[in-house]
Amino acid sequence: MSRAKLFEKTKYFIVDMDGTFYLSDTIIEGSADFLRSLSDMGMDFFFFTNNSSNNTAVCCERLAKMGFPVGEEKIIVSTQVTIDYIKRNYSGMSVYLLGNERMTNDFIISGINLTHEKPDLVVLGFDTTLTYEKIRRAANFIADGAIYIATHPDINCPVKGGFMPDTGSMIELFAASTGKRPIVTGKPMTATVDYITNLLGCGRDELCFVGDRLETDIAIGFNHGIPCVLVLTGVTSMQEHENSKIKADFVVPSISCLKDYLI
Ligand SMILES: [Mg+2]
Repeated sequence: MSRAKLFEKTKYFIVDMDGTFYLSDTIIEGSADFLRSLSDMGMDFFFFTNNSSNNTAVCCERLAKMGFPVGEEKIIVSTQVTIDYIKRNYSGMSVYLLGNERMTNDFIISGINLTHEKPDLVVLGFDTTLTYEKIRRAANFIADGAIYIATHPDINCPVKGGFMPDTGSMIELFAASTGKRPIVTGKPMTATVDYITNLLGCGRDELCFVGDRLETDIAIGFNHGIPCVLVLTGVTSMQEHENSKIKADFVVPSISCLKDYLI
C-alpha cells in the first residue's frame, strides 16, 4: 500500500487537542503512538487549540500529566495568531482585552499596549474571568468604533459534566448589543493558515488539519483547499458529517487510523 494521494505533500499535521488527541484527561488509544511515529515517515505534528483561556504552558502541563510530554513550541493557541495579526496589521495600537490572566500575560510579554481607556482595538478571548463591568466597557468601545477582534468562533466549550458558553456566544452578545461583529483570527480563519505557514515556513499544501469539529477544524481545510481529516472521537458523528455542507477529505474513527494511509 502506498501513501494516499491526499497526503503526498503533507509535512505537518495540525492536530486539534480535545476530542481529537484526548478526551477529558485521557489520551485516545493509539493517538500518542501515531504522533510519535510521524517522524519516522518524514512528517511532524503541531497541536492547535482555539481555546484562548489556556496558554502553551498549561497545555504542556496537561499533556505531560497524561503521559505525553512535549515542548511549548509544539503547541499553538489562537492567542498567538491574534497577537501576530495585531502586530502585522495594527502595530503600536492600544488594546482593551477581554481575557483571563494567562491570555493577558501573553499579550503583555508580546509588548502589546493594554489599556482600559479609549483603546484602538477591543480583543475578545475566552475570558473565564468575564464580568459585567468588562462587558459594559467593551460594548461601549466597540460601539464607539474600536477595531474589534475575537480569537475564535466556538459557541460552547465542553467541560466535565456539560459545557461552558465560549467566545462565539459572547460574539452574539456583543452583536446584539452593538450591531457589530468581530474579525475572527483562530480556526477556521485565513489568519490561522497564514500564521502556521509563516511559522513553519511551508506551503499550504504541506499542511493537513485533523480535528473533531466541523465548523472549525474541518472548515479551515475545506475553505482553504487544504487537506482535512475528521475524527469521530469527539463532537461530530458520521451522520452529522454526511448532513453537513462542510466536508472533510477523510473521515476516520480515530486519529491513529490515519497511519494506514501514510505508509
Ligand atoms: Mg476538539
